[in-house]
Amino acid sequence: MVTDTPASINCIFCKIIVGELPCTKVYENDLVLAFEDINPIAPVHVLVVPKKHIVQLDDCVAEDAQMMGAVMLAAGEVAKIKGVAESGYRVTANNGRDGGQEVFHLHAHVLAGRRMRGLG
Ligand code: 5GP
Ligand code: ZN
Repeated sequence: MVTDTPASINCIFCKIIVGELPCTKVYENDLVLAFEDINPIAPVHVLVVPKKHIVQLDDCVAEDAQMMGAVMLAAGEVAKIKGVAESGYRVTANNGRDGGQEVFHLHAHVLAGRRMRGLG
C-alpha cells in the first residue's frame, strides 16, 4: 500500500513500488519491496523499502511497528537469498542530510560481499 500524499507522488521509490519505474526485484511481501541498488557500493547492495511512503525513521508512529519489523525481517531474507547470511552483511538506514539520505522514502541498505570497515 502506497500512501498517496503529495510527497509520494514524485517519489522514486513509490514509483518503483507501483511499477511505474523498473527495478530488479530481490524479495517482496505485502509490506515491503527489496530490489538491487542502481549504484551498488558493495558486491551485494539491496534496498529494502516499506510500501508505505515514510520519509525517515522519526516519522514512524506506533502503528508502523509491524511494517518496520517487516523491513528488518526482509533484510534477513535478502541475506539468505543472496547467499551472504553466513559470511555476514550490514544493514543501515540513512536519515536526513547529515545521515547521508538521498532518497526521502525510508529504506534499509543490505550490504555484503566485502569486508565492511568503520561506519563512516
Ligand atoms: P540513501 O542515500 O537515500 O540512503 O540511498 C539511496 C540509494 O538509492 C542510493 O544507494 C542510490 O544508488 C539508490 N537509488 C537512487 N535512485 C534509484 C533508482 O531509481 N533505482 C534504484 N534501484 N536505486 C536507486
Ligand atoms: Zn515514497
